[in-house]
Amino acid sequence: MAQVRLRNVTKEFKEVTAVNNFSLDIADSEFMVFVGPSGCGKTTALRMIAGLEEITAGEIWIDEVKLNDVPSKDRDIAMVFQNYALYPHMTVYQNMAFALQLRKMPRPAIKERVERTAAMLGLGELLQRKPGQLSGGQRQRVALARAIVREPKVFLMDEPLSNLDAKLRVHTRSELIRLHRDLGITTIYVTHDQVEAMTMGSRIAVMNHGVMQQCASPLFLYHHPANRFVAGFIGSPAMNFLTARLVAQGGGIVAELGDFVLPLPEAFTAQVRARAGQTVTLGIRPEDIYQRSAAPAALTGTPASAVAQVDVCEPLGSNVFVYLKTPAHEFVASFDSDTAARPGDQLDIVFNVARCHLFDCESEESLLQEAAQAVVTAGVPS
Ligand code: ATP
Repeated sequence: MAQVRLRNVTKEFKEVTAVNNFSLDIADSEFMVFVGPSGCGKTTALRMIAGLEEITAGEIWIDEVKLNDVPSKDRDIAMVFQNYALYPHMTVYQNMAFALQLRKMPRPAIKERVERTAAMLGLGELLQRKPGQLSGGQRQRVALARAIVREPKVFLMDEPLSNLDAKLRVHTRSELIRLHRDLGITTIYVTHDQVEAMTMGSRIAVMNHGVMQQCASPLFLYHHPANRFVAGFIGSPAMNFLTARLVAQGGGIVAELGDFVLPLPEAFTAQVRARAGQTVTLGIRPEDIYQRSAAPAALTGTPASAVAQVDVCEPLGSNVFVYLKTPAHEFVASFDSDTAARPGDQLDIVFNVARCHLFDCESEESLLQEAAQAVVTAGVPS
């Protein structure tokens, strides 16, 4: 059990700043996910925690121990990589027992621990097989088991599911969630897949260009993204971004979008009144856009609407992604699968503006208080 703290951690590779001033407190037993696009610095951050990469500046702590000068092998951390390398000449049992033998643990204790861990991961029948006699999914489970059997203070996992096919990935994902719940070991999990991040993380740190953008629970990130990058990264299909002009009207604020106008909810008025007259980016998720005839009762009479033409429909079974066009904008909506909308149709579209987001065009920061507040407090150590 361990708390991990990063304090202003930076990693420079000559001219590349892979991780820039990263500060974060990871609580004991937490499942923390680092997510972001390729090259954003997630793996480098993890490797610094593991001790596989030197830190250019800053400090990393586990509980009361500063790790900067502690060699990797003494950090009591187990790491599972995308390319797990099992020892091919050893059986599953021997692969799992190896680290414990190095620690000179007595044989009966090794046997007990290996068998218990193998049972936990459904590997009990496979202990005498060699890696070449296992499926990809089984090999990945052995890699996990080999890490778990060490009972480390902290697990570091770098895209451990990305070599698995889609079905097995979903299955192993839920297995990992269950394992974490049962073992309660502090885990840091790196992925570029926002679905994995949303489903697994107790908190998610979103990274871009080496900088942590926001760290919060999955639902907080979804509802209160601190900036346009986070808003676009979390959620699928991605949030729509439309250029709008804020205008004061009748005591409230409306967003003028050229060919339609969206009156903004009262709750936004005080927050963006000072922006009246300015151009901003309005963000709205596909699931917050409806055909008026199929909208929830609270929205059927809303004036926040547009007439849009259906361009393309992508049926997914459970719902349909409908790509819509107005003369000035294009956006995607997620409709129920029973929609009658077809390409070429003109639809009366309504927007759930209570769920829309507003971003500064230049800084791309959210203009809404709750999200802006999150930037100040997210993950910054006290
Ligand atoms: P991916 O999802 O593609 O693995 P990532 O988010 O894990 O990406 P990192 O591997 O941490 O990203 O890399 C961050 C940046 O640091 C990238 O620009 C990368 O090219 C650079 N980088 C990483 N390792 C080195 C190295 N050893 N020498 C020079 N630059 C490096």
